[in-house]
Amino acid sequence: MPSSEPRTITSLTNERIKAIRALEMRKERKATGLFVAEGMSILITARDMGAMPTTLVTLAGRTTVDGPTARLARGLVAGARAAGADCLEVSTAVLQKLSGKDNPQTMLAVYRQRWAEPPQPEACGPDDVWLALEEVRDPGNLGTIVRTVDAFGVRGIVLVGASADPYAREAVRATMGSIFAVPLVRMTAEAFLALATRWRAVGDVVGTHLDGAEDVRAATSWRRPALVVMGSEGPGLSVAAAAVCTRRVRIPMAGRLDSLNLAVATAVTLFEVRRDRL
Ligand code: SAM
Repeated sequence: MPSSEPRTITSLTNERIKAIRALEMRKERKATGLFVAEGMSILITARDMGAMPTTLVTLAGRTTVDGPTARLARGLVAGARAAGADCLEVSTAVLQKLSGKDNPQTMLAVYRQRWAEPPQPEACGPDDVWLALEEVRDPGNLGTIVRTVDAFGVRGIVLVGASADPYAREAVRATMGSIFAVPLVRMTAEAFLALATRWRAVGDVVGTHLDGAEDVRAATSWRRPALVVMGSEGPGLSVAAAAVCTRRVRIPMAGRLDSLNLAVATAVTLFEVRRDRL
């Protein structure tokens, strides 16, 4: 049973600490449906988005000193306790191990993962934009994309096929808190092709492709609601996904390289499609 009493933990073999460390493994995140987020500002975003932790970890003594940061920390602990979270105080060494950093943040917390239902194209608003990522591989790219989607007011992300885990530590860090704001949907490649086929009846399905016939800067002419589809870091957009798109667009480039980083290409494309709404 979670306890609301703070305790100072100095041992890495403490069962609660071991359980949090185990969440570094994807298998354990999948089995428990939990993940770790670090840092006071991300924890504040989580609270503001209505996400309460199951466990809150604070550096020992952090909440007893004076000053605005300590007051914020006390507020987070009080809110977590009221929501029934297990509130732990730990030594610097334990916090370092939990965060994997020499200079860890002074707080971290365990949350329940949230997965959304697939978008219904017929129910989308006339301005809505959704993003689909085909087999994104790099958690840092994925986290950056979650942050970008939040920043540009895109409705959510569909993760297609064998995707990196958005709840991996590196991904969560890169989201800077947007992990709590952006609806995330998982689906197979087959389910995605069926969704994209339905989408074509109400709006454009826009594939980004190095051989795209259209320039991304013409995005204001896309039919909304729009579904933007990005390919994987290695192979790019699959033949099947490219075939279901109503448009294939490219981002013009100068220089010697043939492609942009996935997160950068996503940011450019989403900026173009949302530019008149920002
Ligand atoms: N070798 C891959 C290919 O042939 O597509 C490159 C993949 S690129 C690193 C990852 C994804 O970013 C692409 O599938 C595409 O969605 C997007 N992308 C990158 N640069 C792009 C560009 N100049 N125009 C359109 N999309 C681009």
